[in-house]
Amino acid sequence: MEQAFLQFLATQKQTLSAEGVGIGDDAAVLAWPADSKLVVCTDLISDETDFHLADVTPQQIGRKALAINLSDIAAMACQPVGALLTLLLPQGEGSLQLAQGIYQGAAELGAQFACPIIGGDTNSWPGKVAVSVTVLGQSLAGKPLLRSGAQPGDAIFVTGQLGGSIWRHHLDFTPRVHEALQLTQACSLTAGMDISDGISIDLPRLCQQSDVGAEIDVRLLPLSADAQKMSEKTGKPAWWHGLNDGEDFELLFTVPQREADQLVAQWTNATPITRIGTIRHERELTMLGEDGTRQPLLPEGFSHH
Ligand SMILES: [Mg+2]
Repeated sequence: MEQAFLQFLATQKQTLSAEGVGIGDDAAVLAWPADSKLVVCTDLISDETDFHLADVTPQQIGRKALAINLSDIAAMACQPVGALLTLLLPQGEGSLQLAQGIYQGAAELGAQFACPIIGGDTNSWPGKVAVSVTVLGQSLAGKPLLRSGAQPGDAIFVTGQLGGSIWRHHLDFTPRVHEALQLTQACSLTAGMDISDGISIDLPRLCQQSDVGAEIDVRLLPLSADAQKMSEKTGKPAWWHGLNDGEDFELLFTVPQREADQLVAQWTNATPITRIGTIRHERELTMLGEDGTRQPLLPEGFSHH
């Protein structure tokens, strides 16, 4: 199987920079601008834990394995430059096809973001399929964006729409790489991250790193149609799903108060940005509810870990 997969890989075209070396040698080689930082992240997803093999295509698995990493690179406001794809496959028939599909799903998404698959490894075992992707990225304008720079008074924004990701979005979301790079041009971002476990879990993480608190207004949350759909199913309000559902993979970022209005006025990207709250000096996390009353923001979201 592995030989056959290697032969398949040899037929796949990946676009690398002039001095780059991808799949085919002992290790990959990347040219690196002297003034940029290397950012690197990795993620492992497996059958039954992160997806159900029976319910998805191999391409969707590969796409998602790369997309969640690209989302982390976007969260750092960096440009992805290459990915390593490692597969642990079930023994037996069908695993070559599975490997090819996973690769194709990842390679296709990577091509959209100038992030070729530059290497990886494959093995098989008497268990279920697992996929690990590592992405390398470059900081462009100065330093990577961290979680630790939010200041009291900063406006808190999110990209896109939130909630109900489980219906569809967690498989077909677009990592916000372009939006992140555009934001770095448009304003002075102070902190950022991607929303993987829901705002109610992720915003406290950002606040902790920045040593600040925050208040959001649930009436401002940009809710997806799927958040509404979830609400009809669970009986909880749609905003609850916008706040607590996981796997939105939107960006959560902070901007100095004085730049917030101008950023909104000038933003032309098709992906909306929405101001949802304010960073505060007091370390607590609060929210204004549907009726405008202040209450504690409780981490009720979904955590994978
Ligand atoms: Mg993240």
